[in-house]
Amino acid sequence: MKIIDHIKQSESTLFSFEIIPPVKGKSIQQLYDNIDPLMEFKPPFIDVTTSREEYIYINKGNGLLEKRLTRMRPGSLGICASIQNRYQVDTVPHLLCGGFTKQETEYLLVDCQYLGIDNVMALRGDARKEERRFEQTEDGHAYAIDLVRQIQDLNQGSYLHDVIEISCDVDFCIGVAGYPEKHEESPSMASDLRRLKEKVEAGADYVVTQMFFDNKKYLEFVKQARDMGIEVPIIPGIKPLATKNHLKLLPQTFHLDLPEDLVQAVEACKDNKAVRQVGVEFCIAQCKELMAHGVPVLHFYSMGKSDNIEAIAKAIF
Ligand code: FAD
Repeated sequence: MKIIDHIKQSESTLFSFEIIPPVKGKSIQQLYDNIDPLMEFKPPFIDVTTSREEYIYINKGNGLLEKRLTRMRPGSLGICASIQNRYQVDTVPHLLCGGFTKQETEYLLVDCQYLGIDNVMALRGDARKEERRFEQTEDGHAYAIDLVRQIQDLNQGSYLHDVIEISCDVDFCIGVAGYPEKHEESPSMASDLRRLKEKVEAGADYVVTQMFFDNKKYLEFVKQARDMGIEVPIIPGIKPLATKNHLKLLPQTFHLDLPEDLVQAVEACKDNKAVRQVGVEFCIAQCKELMAHGVPVLHFYSMGKSDNIEAIAKAIF
């Protein structure tokens, strides 16, 4: 079922979350162990991220290292299928421009169709670690909007090689990313919002935001988006802060501000167990306020561990 239909059919705020595929070679069981306790809160959908390829260095044993390009967390679509099968819940694979040709994207979409996956997130992806800026993959897309257009073309029955006879309907519901604190590369908030509007006009059905800790920023973002005519659901992305290291890591990685009261509360903690508790309490208050504003879904970035999200969900749903 489409995310937008889940939202339309619900009279209250829904619960959903995002998971990251395990590093290859690791069992999927750990993922299930983290998903199991969250199923009690009836997520209508679970997102599965996709990782870019990266360079790894293999020790050749003779003092030399061999540099190889590989994808360390493959299998997003396989995980989507296994989750759908195990939990009877919709899954949302993340599709990236970076690292994928248009043809590979088409194959992924065809697989999605066969697997009964109705929703996809269309994302550009970040630059590879060793690149200073995002480099378009050869025969791939430059921006998420191009990916949205490709998916929409397919929804209209137009494949890359327009020589096939269409005998079945494809109608993916498309999610895109939005940034309450502006995307790091964007010259201004207004310009970033204009780009978001273009993605929606190209066919995106809903937006999921980057994580934020200051609700005012999300609410202002939604207001600005509405003022410029973006009418699709804007789902807040939520991340409970969990370690002292997050004070540096989250602003650095996701280009966001942390509220000063949260920073001070975390700094006063003796250990990460105490930080996790502070993060949970802060997040409960944040979620309650967002629910009071009638947000359609609270979408949690689980990043592999679910105990804190379970505690938060218990308090608010
Ligand atoms: P775009 O919408 O393409 O925007 C990228 C930048 O280009 C922005 O600054 C935008 O303003 C600008 N821009 C857009 N169109 C144009 C244009 N035509 N001309 C000039 N500038 C333009 N990353 C992963 O690798 N895997 C994931 O699974 C993943 N999941 C995510 C889920 C969510 C909810 C979010 C918010 C982010 C996720 N990301 C993921 C991170 C995302 O890939 C990065 O933030 C990336 O840098 C931008 O992706 P985008 O889709 O927003 O790009």
